[in-house]
Amino acid sequence: MTAAASGTAASRTAASPSAASPSAASPSAGSPTLSAAEQRLCGLLAIAARSLSQGGHDDFNQGQVSARLPGSDRFLIKNALAGFNECTPESVVLASVNPDEVPHRNAPPELVLHQAIYLARPDVNSIVHSHAPQTLVFGATDLELRAVSHDGAFFVDRLPRFTQTSQTILNLQIATAVATALGDAPAALLRNHGGVIVGKSIRHACVFAHLLERACMLQLLAEQVPGGYHCSTEADVEAKREFNFADLSVKSYWDHCVNRVVASEPAAAAWKEARR
Ligand SMILES: [Zn+2]
Repeated sequence: MTAAASGTAASRTAASPSAASPSAASPSAGSPTLSAAEQRLCGLLAIAARSLSQGGHDDFNQGQVSARLPGSDRFLIKNALAGFNECTPESVVLASVNPDEVPHRNAPPELVLHQAIYLARPDVNSIVHSHAPQTLVFGATDLELRAVSHDGAFFVDRLPRFTQTSQTILNLQIATAVATALGDAPAALLRNHGGVIVGKSIRHACVFAHLLERACMLQLLAEQVPGGYHCSTEADVEAKREFNFADLSVKSYWDHCVNRVVASEPAAAAWKEARR
């Protein structure tokens, strides 16, 4: 699973980190030690990664989840070596939004995708990129996402499709094109590749990634029903966005995600506190 990813990352050994403390979050060379608040973000990223795994976001090439450090030009991201299913706070590395900075040796190959989006979207503090199957298949079609379910209502008329290339995103030009395609939307489909989902917090990005996968799954199912199907009205879509996806609702969905992760990985209970 991680061989391909680590092989690519290994080509960046010029960026070898300093001798980081085993208790640190493997920050880049020359970077300051992470604060307690930043270490807590590492814990939340690990919980988000495990939750994404439970939602079916794993694959051999893996994806990433990242979080911007508040008020900073740096962000934290799951490294290239850990799958969503095996991520721990120690699997998180520090990165700069500046693509000219030499990345951590274990930074994921698609780091530049996160850099381009953070540069383009000051409102975004967390990003999920994955190759989740339902999202990927839906992106391969020309279907527009419809409000088949509550989940779908969130993305109606704000789910662009990036079609310039289906390759892994390894350079700033393509990454910037994805950010341009994303615009001010909460997510974009990457045709024959996967999806990218953004939010103002880790909890928002993680929950929205779950919503997108489920929305795509349900519409793909509905598309197979002879005679067609109905969708929520515009008024219902608006009402759902105001109630079902209000911050308080997203918090409750996130709490559910955390509880599910802790039920399968008891150690994750401590990750919320990130005493490392
Ligand atoms: Zn990818």
